[in-house]
Amino acid sequence: MAIVHYPTASLKPHKDEILQSGHLWIFSGALQQPPRWIEAGGLVDVKSAMGQFVARGYYNPNTDIAIRILTRDSEEAIDNAFLRSRIRRAAQLREVFDPRETTAYRLINSEGDGLPGLIVDRFADMLVMQIHTMGIERLRLQVVEALMQELGVRGILLRNDSQSRRREGLEVEEPVLVAGAVPEQVTILENGVSFLIDPWQGQKTGFFLDQRDKRAALRKYARDKRVLNCFSYTGGFSVYAAMMSDETSVTSVDVSESAMELAYQIFTLNGVDPERHEFLIADAFEYLEDAQQRGELFDVVVLDPPAFAKTQSAQSQALKAYRRLNLLGMQVLRPGGILLSCSCTGVVGLDDLLGILSQDAQRLNRSVQLLETYTHGVDHPINLAMPETSYLKAVFCRVN
Ligand code: SAH
Repeated sequence: MAIVHYPTASLKPHKDEILQSGHLWIFSGALQQPPRWIEAGGLVDVKSAMGQFVARGYYNPNTDIAIRILTRDSEEAIDNAFLRSRIRRAAQLREVFDPRETTAYRLINSEGDGLPGLIVDRFADMLVMQIHTMGIERLRLQVVEALMQELGVRGILLRNDSQSRRREGLEVEEPVLVAGAVPEQVTILENGVSFLIDPWQGQKTGFFLDQRDKRAALRKYARDKRVLNCFSYTGGFSVYAAMMSDETSVTSVDVSESAMELAYQIFTLNGVDPERHEFLIADAFEYLEDAQQRGELFDVVVLDPPAFAKTQSAQSQALKAYRRLNLLGMQVLRPGGILLSCSCTGVVGLDDLLGILSQDAQRLNRSVQLLETYTHGVDHPINLAMPETSYLKAVFCRVN
């Protein structure tokens, strides 16, 4: 076997210990000696203060996280075989999905699948990929090649249009085809429900796959009920609810006109008459305030807002927004109604969310029963050594 030599970086004493736990980040402050003669994103071997090999990863001198680890095996070069084995391992986990029921899932979840900086979502026989770090950007061609070799999909679309790329010193790009062909609209199945996805223009990769299990869980509460879905996007929660019975009625609210148009089509696609439901292009906060003024009441309210904060410094602002939102949600919920409240930012934890719900209920002189707690689905595995990479929490409550 060819022996590959990578530039080395050495750690300060004891800074290798966290890596033994399986953590994949090395902050710049932990480096005794940064690697020399290396371009941003280049591969690097990490040595302990004693000079022993600890791990191999990629280096970015321009970010707080100086090195992200790819392997702790000194024999493992970062090559085609490495990428293919990581992809294979990730694909094996997703075999839990029965293709007759579910054809869309996150295939590679960055750190959670041992490939920091890489997100790949599978939509039927197409992939949509996002690159979040300089290191993966350098491996772009190899990653595409390995994905094609392992999965033989019809096409791969690269969505490098996330603003978060700037933090890594990366350009924000237009969506670009990197393999085969990807149409403007893809049809997928999720728990037997059909969805149309716009991989080119849709938000993020086109669909929020991390809500699959919560959408399924919502069904049992929705039969014959009046349901309000705020921040509905293309109607994920809405269509699951609407399919429960002809007596179920669903109001979907989102600011995105294109998402709402797609939601309408998705109802039809699933044999639900969209004319019996409401699709509103509106600010959810404004809608809720108006609904409350009118004295409208729902049996079930879903609140799945975008991340109100992405950084720790914005946390107090975010907490305020969640508090206001959940208060409004409870005000349009009839006594004994079900509230599904989600938060997709790592900055606000489960305890924060539960605290907010409890305080909001107190203000309204109502009591809350916690029924179910969720995080992401199985296709968003979290490396247990890195709980900080978990972001989604969702709780079902009954508000009396
Ligand atoms: N629940 C959705 C995903 C929601 S993502 C699903 O299951 O697919 C968040 C959504 O909030 C996006 O569709 C975005 O367009 C919308 N949004 C952002 N700010 C909003 C606001 N102030 N009012 C209403 N919708 C908003």
